[in-house]
Amino acid sequence: MALKDKSQPVALVASPERPSRADAESAIRTLLRWAGDDPDREGLLDTPARVARAYEEFFAGYSKDPIEILSTTFSEVEGYDEMVILTNIRFESHCEHHMAPIIGKAHVAYLPDHRVVGISKLARLVDIYAKRLQIQEKMTVQIADALQEVLQPKGVAVVIEASHQCMTTRGIHKPGTSLVTSRMLGAFRDDPATRREFMSIIGSQQIHD
Ligand SMILES: [Zn+2]
Repeated sequence: MALKDKSQPVALVASPERPSRADAESAIRTLLRWAGDDPDREGLLDTPARVARAYEEFFAGYSKDPIEILSTTFSEVEGYDEMVILTNIRFESHCEHHMAPIIGKAHVAYLPDHRVVGISKLARLVDIYAKRLQIQEKMTVQIADALQEVLQPKGVAVVIEASHQCMTTRGIHKPGTSLVTSRMLGAFRDDPATRREFMSIIGSQQIHD
């Protein structure tokens, strides 16, 4: 099953054009030289290899399929039809404009319609999209739409708040700012009481941070 968002392929790892690890390390040597340093000095000798390994971690989400992660659902829910909410899912991502870190938390909720998914899957879903180059708005939509597509629930809500290091450590230099984005589908969009309940639950969580 493919995601509707064709702008971001589910897996890029299989691409035959993927450069080799050696290509990646040599690109990092170039960046070190371009920054004004000497990649052959002792302290930097292992840096290209370390950075390449760090990139494997930062961008591990390209090799994982969010739809597959969610596809084990449980239909025996004893008639449970109230909201399922996982709050304060901490994530680390990188902005696609500067490759600078985006650090924040996501709150994910859905209103089940016969099917639920293991709660750890909600956190993994956030991670899969976070571990790619992102803009926060797109990530918010991707998480919500993947849940909608697989679980077909009565509603989905995703709120993300994050600090963007491209704004805090460079450019406009505004530390302490955070960007809040949300996507509400189904009952969370159409029913003000459902949306209010969700917002009040994630609001009360934040007080205890
Ligand atoms: Zn940026």
